[in-house]
Amino acid sequence: MIIKMSGKKITKIVVAGGGFGGVKTALNFANVPGFEVTLISDNTHFEYHGALYRSAVGHSPMEVVIPLKEIFANCTNVEIILDSVGYIDHSKKIIASQTGQTYTYDIAVLALGNIVNYFGIDGLETHTQTMHDIPSTIRLRGKLVDIFKKTSNKPCRIAVIGAGASGVELAGEISNFATFIAKKYSIKPPQCKVILVDGSSRVLPLLSEKASRKATKKLQDLGVEIHLNTRVESCEENSVYLSAGNLDADLIVWTAGSKPSSFYSKNPDVFTLNRNGKVVVDNQLQSQGHKNIYVIGDNADTKYSGMAQTALSDANFISKNIIAQHKNGKLKNYTPKKPLYVVTVGPKWAVVENGSRIRSGRAGWKTRRDADLAIFRNFQPYKQAIKTWRQAYRMSKI
Ligand SMILES: Cc1cc2nc3c(=O)[nH]c(=O)nc-3n(C[C@H](O)[C@H](O)[C@H](O)COP(=O)(O)OP(=O)(O)OC[C@H]3O[C@@H](n4cnc5c(N)ncnc54)[C@H](O)[C@@H]3O)c2cc1C
Repeated sequence: MIIKMSGKKITKIVVAGGGFGGVKTALNFANVPGFEVTLISDNTHFEYHGALYRSAVGHSPMEVVIPLKEIFANCTNVEIILDSVGYIDHSKKIIASQTGQTYTYDIAVLALGNIVNYFGIDGLETHTQTMHDIPSTIRLRGKLVDIFKKTSNKPCRIAVIGAGASGVELAGEISNFATFIAKKYSIKPPQCKVILVDGSSRVLPLLSEKASRKATKKLQDLGVEIHLNTRVESCEENSVYLSAGNLDADLIVWTAGSKPSSFYSKNPDVFTLNRNGKVVVDNQLQSQGHKNIYVIGDNADTKYSGMAQTALSDANFISKNIIAQHKNGKLKNYTPKKPLYVVTVGPKWAVVENGSRIRSGRAGWKTRRDADLAIFRNFQPYKQAIKTWRQAYRMSKI
């Protein structure tokens, strides 16, 4: 901590990760006297993953990315650094990048998000497409377009592995995208079959059985073939070996696994990991046994981690405690907040689960649009957020 000549103290916060948790934390301290923030990210922009599936099926990726420079344009005490963190020394209070650059902190906030997990399954990484960031999503879209153009008027099979929210949202839109591409290139649409595979006994296992049933019915209405209780054993080009037999497909998409950044396992003296690789945190979201090192969002072992809303509320929670700490006040304990689940299934249809209330159909879709806008409002002034949000209706030049 720096004590200035004026006697005022400055708390230096180093935030690693320019996603939901990291950006929200940095914004909470923007232009707040007494704080200096360094935001380190390996990406020049913030990505809204919840909208990636729309980019995969042709919508403009402009609604998915917001440059960090734009978000912090008017902030005088936030420095943005493009770098990849690799090491933390808790005794010296230093975070180091993979190239050896060091950053000293009074308080470290780590929100490095998840990466794809292939669970070591043979052939999966080589022979499947994913949808976890903008580059992978644009690649997936390109593959879909190529297949639809090649298979005009002929059968084509797209396998989506993973019936969580991402897999369900993607599977529900693929046939519609095939029709769009056929119109655009004045060709006959392919006879597109989408096959959704999951190891669990129902789609959207995080949601209630009722919400899951509604999503299943809608997927079936859209012609999606669903295979449950089915595990992937290995994968080859255009063929996936399942516990229930072989599945041939023109394209295989893997949406069934994610795991925390390897940063944590590489720093075992600072982080204790649970069996999924998430960091065990105390009741203030600090790495267990290490005060002033906060771990939030997808990386923290909390009840609802893995959701953008959780990362945002974690950021708000620790920000209040950091301010209290700065003023020598009392810190509060963390209470996990159940997120609102909104999953789109096909064009203009969504299922919404808010506590015990479940809604679906066009009204659900409207809730999804409102939820998208609420996300952008966290990072942009109202007019700008509306502009970003409207991009969702635009199709890219394909
Ligand atoms: C396809 C998809 C769809 C989703 N849909 C929804 C949804 O509809 N609703 C919902 O609530 N949640 C959704 N999620 C989950 C949601 O995106 C995450 O829970 C949320 O992004 C977590 O925020 P975070 O801050 O923990 O990590 P992230 O937002 O992932 O941010 C991590 C940041 O850290 C950076 N980074 C990583 N490693 C390093 C390093 N070594 N050094 C520096 N920077 C680094 C990354 O580039 C990134 O900027 C979805 C996720 C995916 C993949």
